[in-house]
Amino acid sequence: MKHELSDKDPAFPVMAMEILNNVLSRADNPGGLGTYLTEEVRDLTGARCVLLIQCLSTQTMTAHSVVGVNPLRRRAWAESPNMNRLYMAAHQMTTKQLWQGEKPSEVAGFLRQEGFGLSMVFPLTTGEFRMGTMLVLGLPDEAHITSVLSLLGNLSTIVALVLRNAILFERQEQLIQERTAELRDKNEELEQRVSERTALLQRRSEELELANESLKEVDQLKSSFIASMSHELRTPLNCVIGFSSILLDEWLGPLNAEQKQNLASILNSGRHLLSMINDVLDVTQIESGTIKQGIEEFDLYELLANAESEAAAVIREKGLELQCKLTHQQMRTDRRRLLQCVRNILGNAAKFTDKGTVTVEARIVSGSGEAPAEEIVEIAITDTGIGIGEADLPRIFTPFHRIVITGREIVPGTGLGLFLTQKITTEILKGELLVSSEQGKGSRFSLRIPVRLP
Ligand code: ADP
Repeated sequence: MKHELSDKDPAFPVMAMEILNNVLSRADNPGGLGTYLTEEVRDLTGARCVLLIQCLSTQTMTAHSVVGVNPLRRRAWAESPNMNRLYMAAHQMTTKQLWQGEKPSEVAGFLRQEGFGLSMVFPLTTGEFRMGTMLVLGLPDEAHITSVLSLLGNLSTIVALVLRNAILFERQEQLIQERTAELRDKNEELEQRVSERTALLQRRSEELELANESLKEVDQLKSSFIASMSHELRTPLNCVIGFSSILLDEWLGPLNAEQKQNLASILNSGRHLLSMINDVLDVTQIESGTIKQGIEEFDLYELLANAESEAAAVIREKGLELQCKLTHQQMRTDRRRLLQCVRNILGNAAKFTDKGTVTVEARIVSGSGEAPAEEIVEIAITDTGIGIGEADLPRIFTPFHRIVITGREIVPGTGLGLFLTQKITTEILKGELLVSSEQGKGSRFSLRIPVRLP
């Protein structure tokens, strides 16, 4: 024994403080704390054996582990079934019960049998939690009991707190490890799913690419089929148109009125069919990107006068007035395609106007946007016809779209004219087609194209 310990001893508080400091310095290590404390307490009290039992739970639970044994240092003994019974019982006990049992308890009997005489129990509690128990077994005599009680009474609350802190720390560590492992698993699954999705997307896009390729092939086949069909149709049709017009002009002999009427009908239908075939051919060429630009130098006045004279007969026949405000303007662009556009628009103006005026105007305007210095000509065709409602306006450029007006006679047409006109204007003439219209009042279509194309 190191000291003859007495709480009257002036060294007592100093020793108690030293032990306390040492306990605190082992705050996160219950094992180290147990070994230290049992050694120290055994030295101070002269007990035969000191045990520190940790009870990781509330009062009602009894899970134990020995975190310090002295002096036997034999864990096997400390953890034997007999000792295990002692921990269980000690866990429920107060200090007094072991030292001064009113009636001899099973535990007291067992301790005597093991050769431990005077023994004490120190519950280590913080609040409602019992963190452990310190067993001081085989004290040398009753004289020591008062000082032991005083020292351990003071220490036990602190030790319980330190023990609680260490247990919480351990649990937190364990929890962090568990969560980290879980997260690693949540991550791996996610990575797996992402890579599965990526592979799926890649497969899909490959499939799409394949489908796209075959669609392109089909489209090309369709275009070349239509182109060659239209070509084949035009040859016999030109024959029909040519001969019926020779007959109608009475080159081969005089015709009676009925014959003339029938032949005129053949000629008109033939011409209509030819213009439809030409439109279809143009559409396929535009869509396949094979349409060719044929640039020429010409006077705009002459081109518009030409278109005007073609339309004049129909316009005047309907009792409409035709006004032209033309100027001489040297142009360098695709003459044939420009004429096709003007014919379409002028033809529509004549078709969809029942009374009033059709006006053709041409004027030079300055460029805008990216090329403000560019010389632009505006060819505007205005009518006082049926007009186009706001909802229909965006649809008139869709191929085959025709506005049906109930009660109005259906005029011949394919619904390709404006689609083609717009495509030609933007893609060949490098200009734009603008429209403004009011239902019941009339429409204004204007072609704005560069005067000179490079
Ligand atoms: P189509 O004249 O062969 O029907 P278009 O593509 O040239 O085909 O015109 C599409 C539709 O736009 C016409 O059917 C008509 O309903 C409307 N439209 C075109 N021009 C005019 C116009 N000047 N006035 C009123 N409606 C028009």
